[in-house]
Amino acid sequence: MTRWYPRQTTKKGGINPPVTKWNRIGESSSASRRYQDRVHEKLAIAGYVQLTPGVIFIYERAPWRIVEIVDRLQDWDDEHEAMFAGILRAWERSQRGDKPERATWAGRPFVVVAVPDQDPTAKPVHLEAPAHYTWQILPEHYLICRACGELPPCRHEEAETSADREMARTEVLMEIPAGHCMSCGEHITRRQKSTRFPGPNLWRPDLPEHSAIFHAREECSDGVDRYRTAWEARGGTRPQTTLSFNDLGEAS
Ligand SMILES: [Zn+2]
Ligand SMILES: [Zn+2]
Repeated sequence: MTRWYPRQTTKKGGINPPVTKWNRIGESSSASRRYQDRVHEKLAIAGYVQLTPGVIFIYERAPWRIVEIVDRLQDWDDEHEAMFAGILRAWERSQRGDKPERATWAGRPFVVVAVPDQDPTAKPVHLEAPAHYTWQILPEHYLICRACGELPPCRHEEAETSADREMARTEVLMEIPAGHCMSCGEHITRRQKSTRFPGPNLWRPDLPEHSAIFHAREECSDGVDRYRTAWEARGGTRPQTTLSFNDLGEAS
């Protein structure tokens, strides 16, 4: 079960061979559930790719193909030596589980040598990562943006989707009727408390003065906070808190 489905964009990959048994905390309570768990386990294991030369992975939005994997087991830098020594000391104090081994320590460094998949003659990169690092693996047939060569979502797509989202938000703000809450856009009833910012409406310059009003409720406080920041930057000092109809009733 190592196939890729047509719509599957990535699998998870790593240095270690696929596990044969899942690390499970507790067990399901019925025999049929335990059976299903074992089936899911097989499928999850099939979704994992062990890194080998030829495997394609994502690095900085681009596809790279592995040329070589170097295990620097005998040649760790001081930082890794110190980290492993610390793990050994911790184990000696606790004596819990098996004694950590250099060859199987999850933090041991590997170097993956890879070339751009689009340009195999380019200078290879040497990427160092700990053994527990999860790589994003690509199938042989993957999508790239024709305009920029990046994997989707490319930087253009991200910029365009965020611009569209911002535009949609602005359109909704521009549709809020005068007198409605500038945060949620809904009507403020006589029973609801509100906060009003005097002066020109900074978000809706098309509306009259003193029209920046918000529900005083938690749900709309984010809008109040954002408006207050802009309002204070323009020299505003104290918004007016309007009592609701209810409060007026109680006071009399
Ligand atoms: Zn692009
Ligand atoms: Zn509101």
